[in-house]
Amino acid sequence: MFDFMEMDFNAAGKTSQPIGSGPYIPDAAECMRCGMCVGSCPTFRLFQIDEETPRRRIRSISKLLVENQPLSDMEHQHLHNCLQCRACESVCPSRMAYGNLFDQAQAALQTPRNWLAKLAFRVIEQKRRRNRLMPLLGLYLKSGMRKPLRKTGWLKKLRLAEAEALLTPPALTPLKPAYPTAVNRRGSVALFTGCIAEQFDRDTLLASITLLNAIGFEVSVPPRQGCCGAIHQHNGQAAAGLIANNLQVFNALPVDAVIHTASGCGAMLSEYRAEDEQAVQLFSNRLADINEFLLQHWPEDLVLKPVDSSVAVHEPCSQRNLLKNQHAVYALLDKIPGLSVAPLPDNQICCGAGGSYMLSHPENAKALRSLKTQAISASAARMLVSSNFGCMCFLNADPALNEQKFVHPLQLLAASLP
Ligand code: SF4
Ligand code: SF4
Repeated sequence: MFDFMEMDFNAAGKTSQPIGSGPYIPDAAECMRCGMCVGSCPTFRLFQIDEETPRRRIRSISKLLVENQPLSDMEHQHLHNCLQCRACESVCPSRMAYGNLFDQAQAALQTPRNWLAKLAFRVIEQKRRRNRLMPLLGLYLKSGMRKPLRKTGWLKKLRLAEAEALLTPPALTPLKPAYPTAVNRRGSVALFTGCIAEQFDRDTLLASITLLNAIGFEVSVPPRQGCCGAIHQHNGQAAAGLIANNLQVFNALPVDAVIHTASGCGAMLSEYRAEDEQAVQLFSNRLADINEFLLQHWPEDLVLKPVDSSVAVHEPCSQRNLLKNQHAVYALLDKIPGLSVAPLPDNQICCGAGGSYMLSHPENAKALRSLKTQAISASAARMLVSSNFGCMCFLNADPALNEQKFVHPLQLLAASLP
């Protein structure tokens, strides 16, 4: 009898054409094991074994959730090697809701976390703790202690080396609660800043505010907002409290839209679920991606300054596979006269960042990042952009990147305003 499991998918990328139109079937047992997803999976590209494919992971999830069977250590390990990039969802003819199934499996497994992960979850949840930590981080980065401390080997022993390598100086003053527009007022929006963007991705947030003001929108930055909950949800932790907080904070505001700037957070926000379905509906109705919002409301008479340069666009998995709005980035960048815009080669493969994956699976993550760095070397572009803060951080920390650094596309747009 013909068995899809016997098919040869050694040629990675062979099945990268979008077939389904998004997740649909929430039951892991519904997977046909056709293997159409295999070539799109970054871990299959790395390891070239069937255990590292979406269909094998879905079999493990089915075993766990449908058959109520425990997973072997190996099955557990292969399941956790998943980056949750969800490239498999885009090509699945059965429209398997892989991301949803993976989150269910994570919640069911309740994998014990070490002290560091537990501390990270608490810091992400609690703004006061984060605010107390930031000046200390800033001092540490200025102190000249980085190199000597790395040499002691303590960072590695404490499993802090990967996170430490990503650190950049944090902004220590909070954003203002409101930014009025100086041009004809067309409306008002609230800016989602999440947990750490205000400190570590300040330039993108300021560029967003500048652009929104320039097209006539007043911007408010509600101080009581919090993390989107993605890191928690994708790691089997309860995200309900974080979701409820954001629903309450943003739904109380009389604004036209709630704008997110990082595609990873945007993907989570766009999939919010809560007992209060009306609250989710109200939130979803006003939720907008910054790139799409700017494109939709761009005034015809707003002409940008020319830039004689070229840019390669990295398409984060959360943007490409979930929000599916990467076209808006190209359309916005095309508004800069003289700028040559092209996709980064191999955009369909995850850069390795994968939310917290870069910290939990550093070797796999770096192997994928070096594939991306090779793609960057093959591109003649002078500038690099990415719409996801996590990807930017991880890619910019690659020593092979030399002088070129990723910025959010909005920073190029804001710099080109007349
Ligand atoms: S997840 Fe979808 S594409 Fe992959 S084997 Fe199952 S049915 Fe086929
Ligand atoms: S989410 Fe990404 S890494 Fe995980 S199984 Fe699907 S394609 Fe592979």
